[in-house]
Amino acid sequence: MVVSRFAPSPTGYLHLGNARTAIFSYLFARHHNGKFILRIEDTDKERSSKEFEEMLLRDLEWLGIEWDEFYRQSERFDIYREYVNKLLDSGWAYPCVCTPEELEEERKRAEERGIPYRYSGKCRHLTLEEAKRKGLPYTIRFRVPEGEVITFEDLIKGPISISVDDFGDFVIVRSDGTPVYNFVVVVDDALMGVSHVVRGEDHIPNTPKQILIYRALGFKVPSFAHLPVILGPDRSKLSKRHGAVSVKNYREEGFLPEAMFNYLCLLGWSPPEEGREIYSKDELIKLFDLKDINSSPAVFDVQKLRWMNGVYIREVLSLEKLANYITPFLEKAGYSFDRDYLLKVLQKARDAFDTLSEAVDRLKPFFVDEVEYSEQARGILENQTAMQILEYVLLKLDNEELNGQKIKEIAKMAQKELGVKPKDFWHALRAVLTGELEGIGVDVLSDVLPKERFIKRVERALRSFQ
Ligand code: GLU
Repeated sequence: MVVSRFAPSPTGYLHLGNARTAIFSYLFARHHNGKFILRIEDTDKERSSKEFEEMLLRDLEWLGIEWDEFYRQSERFDIYREYVNKLLDSGWAYPCVCTPEELEEERKRAEERGIPYRYSGKCRHLTLEEAKRKGLPYTIRFRVPEGEVITFEDLIKGPISISVDDFGDFVIVRSDGTPVYNFVVVVDDALMGVSHVVRGEDHIPNTPKQILIYRALGFKVPSFAHLPVILGPDRSKLSKRHGAVSVKNYREEGFLPEAMFNYLCLLGWSPPEEGREIYSKDELIKLFDLKDINSSPAVFDVQKLRWMNGVYIREVLSLEKLANYITPFLEKAGYSFDRDYLLKVLQKARDAFDTLSEAVDRLKPFFVDEVEYSEQARGILENQTAMQILEYVLLKLDNEELNGQKIKEIAKMAQKELGVKPKDFWHALRAVLTGELEGIGVDVLSDVLPKERFIKRVERALRSFQ
């Protein structure tokens, strides 16, 4: 059975790159009817926090990534201790009493000689009893067999070979007794039955260390799939310098989870059907495979994401779902409305915005009591022709139902009877209804706005500018 996992450290908000890793790992498991595990890697007590863990879970749930099993490394220390003891007993690990100063000294000397640093192996012959007798703090190191080259077949990058001499004996337990990532990740992946390790390519240098531990503990080595990094528009690694990079930022900006999921998925993975870009999660589960991941880095393009979000808003989501997503944004802006009115607005104006926060601004004329006039709108309304048009509209609407069609008819009549240009007619009304000269169309507003609201706005303009 395919078992994959996502193993974030709760040391910050979920980054777009990690979110994509989670999505790929999740899709791979689902595609193969396998199991997907979420494991919180919080052995580094100083850097991990509960708030970040909660935020991670929230972002993953928001993206629609469900996990079958959940683990927290901080609750598994007894298990790790057991496996450290196994390594000590079998001679694969040994205590090291070298002080940070001594190690720093070694590092400096290597630097001076221009060679890569490797631990000297000074404590290689020390036994646990001897270390304890010394009463000094000690770390535990893994004994790396010299001269070996570890080769593994990466499912994305192909064969990778790394010489163990590049790193030498490495620490698996810190002097405060906490085990380190390279060790616990092996114990966990092995005990949890992980068959495929899908993660960022920054972990490639860790992989040979982990393979050595798998072997030493007699565990089966899983398959590895290392994902290329995501680049910013300037082709350097995507980071805060490029703007918002956490899922939280995008969620709060009013991007939809479906669009984020879809977009991130296409960042480095090419669907078999060329030219098509909009895919539901179920379709992605059906189509996704690791072999279709591009081995070179993908470039994050926020405009493309914005476009895709707009497509989801306009064409993909049901009106009901869109209303659910948008409600908190409009409420936060202080608009009050009932559900039926909102549905009516969205039905007519869902093509006016690409994100939900943009909607707050664009849809304002539907929700506020009074609009604020921009400089240009004032310019239009200060004109006598505009006043004439507004009075005419009031007159013609008397006893009539308000809708876009009716307003178009009145525009034609005004042209004939008052001799005003269509452009002046529409500008005057738009200025009155929205306070701007661009944005939502007058006909759309007329279809949706309650007549009393419409009239109130016209009357107010007449009072203010006549
Ligand atoms: N906690 C590690 C990270 O966030 C996980 C790496 C792995 O998937 O093995 O980078």
